[in-house]
This record gives sequence, C-alpha cells and structure tokens, in this order.
Amino acid sequence: MFPKEKNGITAAVNALASSYESHIRPLLDAVDRLRHLKVMEEGINLPTIVVVGDQSSGKSSVLESLAGISLPRGQGICTRVPLIMRLQDDSTLSTPVIYLEYKDKRVPTSESHIASAIEIATGEIAGSGKAISNSPLTLVVRKKGVPDLTMVDLPGITRVPVHGQPENIYEQIADIIKQYIKPQESIILNVLSASVDFSTCESIRMSQQVDRSGERTLAVVTKADKSPEGLLEKVTADDVNIGLGYVCVRNRVGEETYEEARIAEAELFESHPLLRRIDKSICGIPVLAQRLVQIQAQLIAKCLPDIVRKINVKLSHNESELDDMPQHLSSIGEAMRVFMQVLIRTRETLRKLMIRGEYDNFEEEKEMHGAARLVDMLNQYKKELPHDFPMKENFLMEEISVLEEARGIGLSNFLPRTAFLTLLQRKIKEISYTPKGFVNKVWDYMEGMVLRILDKESENYPPLQAFTRRAARNLIEKMRRRSLQTVKEMIEMEMVVDYTSNPDYMKTWTDLMEQREKFMEFLQNPLMPMVMNIKGVGCVDVGHLRQRHEGLAEEAFDLKMRLVAYWRCVILRLVDVLALHVMYAVKNLVENELDYEVMNEVVNGACGSQANGLERMLEESPATTAKRERLGKSISLLMESKEVVAKIMDKISINVV
Ligand code: GDP
Ligand code: MG
Repeated sequence: MFPKEKNGITAAVNALASSYESHIRPLLDAVDRLRHLKVMEEGINLPTIVVVGDQSSGKSSVLESLAGISLPRGQGICTRVPLIMRLQDDSTLSTPVIYLEYKDKRVPTSESHIASAIEIATGEIAGSGKAISNSPLTLVVRKKGVPDLTMVDLPGITRVPVHGQPENIYEQIADIIKQYIKPQESIILNVLSASVDFSTCESIRMSQQVDRSGERTLAVVTKADKSPEGLLEKVTADDVNIGLGYVCVRNRVGEETYEEARIAEAELFESHPLLRRIDKSICGIPVLAQRLVQIQAQLIAKCLPDIVRKINVKLSHNESELDDMPQHLSSIGEAMRVFMQVLIRTRETLRKLMIRGEYDNFEEEKEMHGAARLVDMLNQYKKELPHDFPMKENFLMEEISVLEEARGIGLSNFLPRTAFLTLLQRKIKEISYTPKGFVNKVWDYMEGMVLRILDKESENYPPLQAFTRRAARNLIEKMRRRSLQTVKEMIEMEMVVDYTSNPDYMKTWTDLMEQREKFMEFLQNPLMPMVMNIKGVGCVDVGHLRQRHEGLAEEAFDLKMRLVAYWRCVILRLVDVLALHVMYAVKNLVENELDYEVMNEVVNGACGSQANGLERMLEESPATTAKRERLGKSISLLMESKEVVAKIMDKISINVV
C-alpha cells in the first residue's frame, strides 16, 4: 500500500509538473518572445507583473528573494531603469545561467557578478550619475527551483531629489511608473514596508489612480521581522483596498544566504508571538512565488485573445498604410508615367470644377466650386460698375462748361463730338480700376485652385511639386498679364470710339429727348418749380440754369441725354467682353496651356547640370524612406509575433482536446 501511495503522489506531482510544462510554460515563453520582439513599442500591451513601491520599501529585496540572487540594494537610488526580470526554472542546470539583455546585446554574467553587471548596464542606458531612463534592461535568470515569473522592477518613488538628481525626478519616475501600471494587462505588485502606515505610501496613491477597485493590485509587506507590531491588524483591516490580498515576508538580512533567509523566515512566522497569528496562507516568499505564478498564468490566458486581435488590427493597418505610400520609382519611364497621371488627373479635376461645374469630390468645400465662384465674381463686378451715368451736383453745368470750351467758329446748332468724347472719357477713367480689379481677383483665385489641385495630385512626389508649382505660377502670371492687357485695350477703345449697334441706344435717347420741351418750359417759366423730375434720370435742380443762355442749356440737355443712353451700352460691353474673355482664358488654361507649361518645366526646367523634374522624382525624400522602412520593420515584427501566438494557440487547443 505504502509504496503504491507514494507512487501515486509522485505521479500527481509529475502530472502537475508536466501540465505546467505543457500549459503554462509555453504561454510564458510566448509572452517573453513577444516582449523580446518589442511588440509593446507597437502599442500592444503584454501581461506584466509590475513591482512598485516607495524608495527602500524592499522591492529589490523581494525580487532577490524570489530569484535567489543578489541585486544592487541599499540606500539612495539604485534602480534607475526599468529592470525586466525573467526567472526560468530549469531543473537540468547545476549552476544558474544568468545574462543581461539591453541595447540589442546579450551580456552573460554570474551570480556573484549580477549586482555589478546591472550597475554597468544601467550606466550605459541612463548614464553615470543619478539620472533615470525608461528604456528597460532585461535580466534572465535560469536556475533550478526558481518560480517561472517575469516581473518588472521600477525605480522607487522619491519626493525629494538627492544631490545630483534632476529637479523633476519625482515627475520622471512617476511617469515611468504610470506608463507601466496603467494598462489593464498589468498586475501591480505593491511593495510596502511593515514599518509604515500604508495609507501614506506614495505607491498606494499611484496604484489607486489606475486601479481604483484594487482588482489588479497585490501587496507584499516586507520587514515583518523589523516591525511585527500591528501587522496582523493592518493586513486584516485592509484600509487601502488591495483587491488581490496581502503577502507578508521577511527578506534576506545582512550577509545571510538565501537558504538561511528562508529558514529564518519560516521560523519567524512559525514562532513570533505576534506574527504566528497571521494566517500561513499569506506568509512567506514561497507563498508569494506560488500566488504570482498562478496570477500570471490566469492573466496571460485572459489577455492572449486580445493580443491576437490587436496584432491583427495593427498588422492590417500597417499593411494598408504601406500600400497607400507612393510607389518607389526606379526609371525615367516609370516617372514619366506617374507624371502623366498627375497631369491628366489635374486637368480632369480642373475641368470638372472650373468648366463643367461638377463638384463631386468637393461637395463640402464651397471655395473649390470654381464655375460657381467665377459667376459670383462676375456678378460682383457687375454690381460695382455704376449702371446709371454718374450725376454731378450742379445739373448740366459740367456739360455747359465742356460745350463752351469745345465751341469753334461754325453753326451753333451742331453738337461738337469732342464735347461728347471728353465727358465720356472722364467717366470711363473714373471706373477703369473696376475691370482691373475683377481680372486680378479671377487670377488670384485661379492660382489658388491650380496650385491646390496640382499639389494634391503630386503630393507623393515632393520634388515634382517644386517644378509643377513654379510652372503653374509662371503660367498664371502670364495669363494675368494678358488679361490686364485686354482690359487696358478695352478701356482705351471705349475712350477713343463712341459707337454701338445696340438699338436700345436710339430708343433710350429718343424717350429721354421727349422731355426736352418740358425742360425748356422749366427754364423759361419762372412760375415753374425749381426741381424737375426727368424720367430715366431722376429729380434735378434746374434753378441755377435759368440765368443761362437758353440755346446752350438746350444743347447741354441733349448732350447729357446722349451720354445717359450711351453709358448703358458701355457698361453692358465692359461686362460682356470681360465675361467672354475670362471664360475663354480659363478654358484655355485648363485645356491647353497648363499641360504645356508644366510639361516644359518638368522636362526642361532644370538649370545647368541639375536634375530635371523626372530625374528628381526618382529620388525619395528621407522621411518617406524612413517611413517605408519603419512600416516594413513593424510589419515583419508583427508577422513574427502573429506566428508566435498562432503556435501557442494551436498548442492550447490541442491540450484542451
Ligand atoms: P528598494 O529601494 O525598494 O529596492 O529597497 P531595497 O530592496 O534596496 O531595501 C532597502 C533596505 O531594506 C535594504 O537595506 C534591505 O536590506 C532592507 N530590507 C528589505 N527587506 C527587508 C526585510 O524583510 N527585513 C529587513 N530586516 N530588512 C529588509
Ligand atoms: Mg531597488
């Protein structure tokens, strides 16, 4: 019976061990692989046990106890970078295998040299002195009998900078700690010294900020040997809301060996009059080790599916981002093809916006609705031109003075044409800035449109943009000069020739002249009122004309009515001519000139021995190259991670079956 039972126990232990080997160990290895691959840098959080605690609370001592090795320990700031500690149980080893990993290198060391090796590595990462850094250092300890655990030791929280530390040391450390304990995937191992009031601990305050209910927090109470008074009450009262419970420990003291320390710890909780009252299930380093292994296994099992999902999301996101990047051009032929595409697409977009009035890709952007905006500008221009002949204060006095000046020797009832032209020229000069303003506005707008669309179509090829922009600017300037020339000629023509075939002119003049007799009556009859309403002109004061030479006033009236009638034709012409001109020029720009100008600039626009636009397109900007590389690296890393996880998921499902 006895041997059989003994065999039964051995079998159970073996089964447990082999189930651990087959279930948990591979999970842990997978997570460690992922950590090694730096998936955290891709924003994917891994299940992690994070050790936090105020300075000198005993963090490093707890890790030492779990690992059975010496870590830099003592007063002042010792842990200056996050230390990822991977403990791996390996029963085949008679002496432990220990190495450090940092900055892409692996540095083997031994049990007696760990402390100094860590100090050297810390110095390399964070510099000598007392500065801290958040780039981590990994310590791998493969040893017989250690618990399989991966934990992160963080710099202790300190309120007051010691000599040689930066002023904002508290903020720096707090930032690092928060970065590690914030993710839901982190278990917070809060190390508290039995000698302090837990509620005053900075580390408690911090973990409560990210884990209010405490469901991710486990407390380790150190120095039970030094401050046994009231410890039982403290852990039972749980004033600080520790969801995963407390474990009380006694770490190595002085020069004790680890074996001696464990024996002393067991002894302490067994026989100390105050400590022995504490439940054995929350006492001692072995209990802590077991709880952590268990918590870690649950945590990994819980997190893995989400990690798989995040890897997939990140992977497809990066892949599509890489796909969207401009192709890398390797020959002039390819560059030419891409450049032609840019040109064709630019022309097509401009044609839609400026000519056809189709705004499909710019629904929301009113400013881009070119055809409609041109009409707006034309309407505005029309409004700015005075439709009625501008009237001066003293009705007909200007006409009279011009007539007096224009009078030569000859019959008096002929209207001198020079008088008409003089008055017309004066009025046209007054409004000549309006058409100039209109064409300037049109070309300012066109410049904005063309540059914006060209930039958009060639955004993936910044070297090309410099050429296309220059070509577009030059072309618009050329077209602006042409338009201003047209305006100038148009104004000059109006000033030297008075002609219209528009029948409205004669009709309007005749209608206006029908009021001549009435006007004369107003002048001749002193009983008539001083103000006369002339249809088509408005109410005018005529009193000042009564002392005037009657014939001259009559001529002036006739002259005025001709100007009023003719002015309407002039205004119509100024609007019509420019409307046609602008529409024609814009169409010409879109359909012909832009292609030609841009092509010419890109192919021939280089000075001297410089590369032309097509050659420049083959050069990729350093930023683009860097981005391409970054995405490539990230994708291969994520693929590798995916494989790691896929393998482990397969194993799990086989085991479940
Ligand atoms: P850390 O700053 O949180 O990493 O704290 P350390 O691990 O460096 O410990 C600070 C000091 O407390 C060291 O001198 C340790 O020897 C001591 N210490 C840590 N744990 C215990 C313990 O359980 N009992 C006793 N007596 N001293 C301890
Ligand atoms: Mg420490």
